[in-house]
Amino acid sequence: MTDPNSWSPNQTGNRKSPAAAREWGYGLYVSFLLQHSELAPLASKVIAGERLSESEALQLFETRDLNALGSLADLANQRRNGNRASYIINRYLNYSNYCILSCQFCAFSRKRRDADGFELTAEQMVVKAREALALGITELHIVGGLHPTLPFSYYTGFLKSLKALDSRLQLKCFTAIEILHLAWLAKKSVRDTLSELRDAGLESLTGGGAEIFRKEVRSQIARGKESAEEYLDVHRTWHSLGGRSTCTMLYGHVESLADRVHHLSLLRKLQDETHGFTGFIPLPYQPDNNGIPVEHAPTGFDQLRTLAVARLFLDNFDHLTAYWVGMGLKMAQVALSYGADDLHGTIVEEHIFHMAGAQSPQLQTERDLVKAIREAGRIPVQRNTFYEPIRIWGDSETVGSGAPVPA
Ligand code: SF4
Repeated sequence: MTDPNSWSPNQTGNRKSPAAAREWGYGLYVSFLLQHSELAPLASKVIAGERLSESEALQLFETRDLNALGSLADLANQRRNGNRASYIINRYLNYSNYCILSCQFCAFSRKRRDADGFELTAEQMVVKAREALALGITELHIVGGLHPTLPFSYYTGFLKSLKALDSRLQLKCFTAIEILHLAWLAKKSVRDTLSELRDAGLESLTGGGAEIFRKEVRSQIARGKESAEEYLDVHRTWHSLGGRSTCTMLYGHVESLADRVHHLSLLRKLQDETHGFTGFIPLPYQPDNNGIPVEHAPTGFDQLRTLAVARLFLDNFDHLTAYWVGMGLKMAQVALSYGADDLHGTIVEEHIFHMAGAQSPQLQTERDLVKAIREAGRIPVQRNTFYEPIRIWGDSETVGSGAPVPA
């Protein structure tokens, strides 16, 4: 971090680059802005680039000074990502919602007896993927329930069929609990299962299923699911094979703020160890159609503070996504000034959050994502699965028709 005392605009002979000067100026501005805030002592640490402790993260969560918190998170984000914010042109694909587990918070899973259960054949998945490819997707994001009878060859089979459509199509698939299920089906170790899936076309693991790591909370919302250690170990193993993944936190249900900090802390620790996470995606809880006695989704205040604290605490993560499916695009756009640098994707067909009551639309067009980013004062960047830029939009460029991709 640039020391605000080490340089002044009038100094000669030790001139900083324009970017460093901007950072210096912004750091000074934030420091001035927060001089009377309760966050002033923490602001000094952030401006000096020092790591925050768990108790300091809790202090940030407990503040009511949202704008001060947001200014700090924005500083941390701009230091890392400059003035850019990204999105991806992707499609969600759920192969089945049948699941042998019954996590209390889940509105997505179905049993065989349920009329609205579904499972797709590899051929049906190929049809959906082909339609989406024609409209420019670069990523398929594929998850499902823990299916009671489909064999391991079904999963490697659809990966191969989808990859055969276009070798550039990136397949981001499976949560950690699905990987454990597939390892059980394959009768192989997690490492060998992941290797076999990678050989079939898997390029990134999804971050879903982390929920809240604290055991007492996990047993109230996702009894029977893998433990925190198992979730982290699947990602650790994937990273050790050279793979990358994202990670998540489902918040705003029965957990405490201290539970959130504990969760973030375990993610930060694994990232210190592997550097394999590409980004973090906080997921606001949706309260409908499940067995958790919580009536409301997290408020706008809670959504913004959670993103901001994550940006400040997760100092070893490059990217932080404002997940428009759970937040709505309007709130996700605001979050670009509270530490987030990514709006996720076009998505096209989302089931998991919508079956739990999400009010957002099923998809976003590229035009709407670019507009949201530009209005927030950022430079829109189309990214790939690994957050690498595919296209950086100039100020005067217009985005085609912005037509939605058909589901
Ligand atoms: S959250 Fe996943 S594992 Fe749990 S019931 Fe739903 S689909 Fe099954």
